[in-house]
Amino acid sequence: MARSTRPSPGPAASPGPEPSPPLPAPPSAAPRDRGLYCNRTLNLRSVRAIGYDMDYTLIHYRVDAWEGRAYAHVQQMLRSRGWPVDHLAFDPDAVIRGLIIDRELGNVVKANRHGYVNQAAHGTRMLDFDTQRRTYADTLVDLSDPRWSFLNTLFSLSETTLYAQLVDLLDDGALPHGIGYAELHDVVRRSIDAAHVEGALKAEVIADPDRFVELDPDTPLALLDQRAAGKRLLLVTNSEWHYTRAMMAYAFDRFLPAGTTWRDVFDIAIVAARKPAFFRERMPLFEVVDDTGLLRPVGTDLGRNRVFLGGNAGLIEAALGVSGGDILYVGDHMFGDVHAPKGIQRWRTALVLRELEADLAAEAAFAPRQAELSALMDVKTRLELDYSQARLDLTRTQATPPYGPSSGTPPEALQARMAALRAELVALDERIAPLAIAAGQLNNPRWGLVMRSGNDKSYLAHQIERHADMYLSRVSNFLFETPYVYLRARRGSLPHDRPGVAPPLG
Ligand code: IMP
Ligand code: MG
Repeated sequence: MARSTRPSPGPAASPGPEPSPPLPAPPSAAPRDRGLYCNRTLNLRSVRAIGYDMDYTLIHYRVDAWEGRAYAHVQQMLRSRGWPVDHLAFDPDAVIRGLIIDRELGNVVKANRHGYVNQAAHGTRMLDFDTQRRTYADTLVDLSDPRWSFLNTLFSLSETTLYAQLVDLLDDGALPHGIGYAELHDVVRRSIDAAHVEGALKAEVIADPDRFVELDPDTPLALLDQRAAGKRLLLVTNSEWHYTRAMMAYAFDRFLPAGTTWRDVFDIAIVAARKPAFFRERMPLFEVVDDTGLLRPVGTDLGRNRVFLGGNAGLIEAALGVSGGDILYVGDHMFGDVHAPKGIQRWRTALVLRELEADLAAEAAFAPRQAELSALMDVKTRLELDYSQARLDLTRTQATPPYGPSSGTPPEALQARMAALRAELVALDERIAPLAIAAGQLNNPRWGLVMRSGNDKSYLAHQIERHADMYLSRVSNFLFETPYVYLRARRGSLPHDRPGVAPPLG
């Protein structure tokens, strides 16, 4: 972690008053990709408990390795059903988080914040603009409709990649007759579910964590700071005990003070939490009493540094004596970790979005060309206005009877001007097109940036804005601030703001 230290003062040039001792080094300002981005003002000082999700939150996996193995397990299940899947391979760039599966049509789509589809693929083939427009002109994505399945987390990438490839096979007549796109998705969903729940995949990860985990030595430190600042820390993971124990020990213990383990960091650790049901149902809580996972029922006093299984959010609030707004929950699953705790329990929420780092790097590298694109678009807007004014002038002049003020320019001159402007616009479009295409391919050549859709926010960005009080690329970003930081939401932008000018206050 690049926490800058303040340079030590050099030797005093002339005798004078004793210099005051240097202050401890302030945390450096976070680089843009490591910031804490706030949608709703959040005073971390007044947060009394912070809950953490484990997978892809406290522990980040190499997507190509983890999702590649998940994919391979499901591929094997389908192979044993006799499906011709041997030639298929996992491609970590085939899809991105925040896309949406259209189960009715066998498509994968990217929508903007209003739910309008801007990009779509049928199976693995991108739809051309006209087809996509024809298909979705009258359709808005609505996640309450079972037609749509949202890619909530990086765990969704293996499932969706395989689904798209199987849609191709279904169209080619290579899968059992009579199966539809929605049933096909059900099969993939159930198989992925089984791969996660059955032991073999997790056993591979436990056996060789170096291959799967991207360690972050600063994450434990961020949590130690929060704990020392008086926050109660919780671990609430859907993972089972034996997996949680192995992975937390691997990712945390080496970075903790001697003689302590990850168990000492958390007041309460809950495994097999069954989020999102954890936030909405009243499931009973059991204590995990030994490393084999032996369970016993518990009462309301949860003590400290103990591990539990199941339970529910209400029990946690009662045990800690806190309620909704006192708890911040940090996780990577858009629905289970953010939408559900926010919508049901009114907990404060933070979404961990690792892809933000690559999004921002790609945008930064593209900035000069983006400036060029924006300048060309400004020219285009001006030329279009000139063209439209000439056209309106002509319309008024040629109307019977003529009406309204007109410039007095003869119709032939107006027509010539329109033709010249049209030619200029065509030439301009030729310069704009490659830049616009490149802008749409940033970070991912098929789907572009995770947080944007065209010029607008993506559907994922909109979900984050609605349900996450803040978002950050990784948990260790907390170290760029302190546990007492007052995170203030920026004044939101509105279409009538003047570009490049800070909107007036008040
Ligand atoms: P968490 O992110 O710490 O709550 O843990 C996520 C857990 O859910 C991991 O153990 C994953 O293997 C598991 N998981 C992820 N996706 C699925 C699924 O589709 N079905 C069942 N389990 C899943
Ligand atoms: Mg997770």
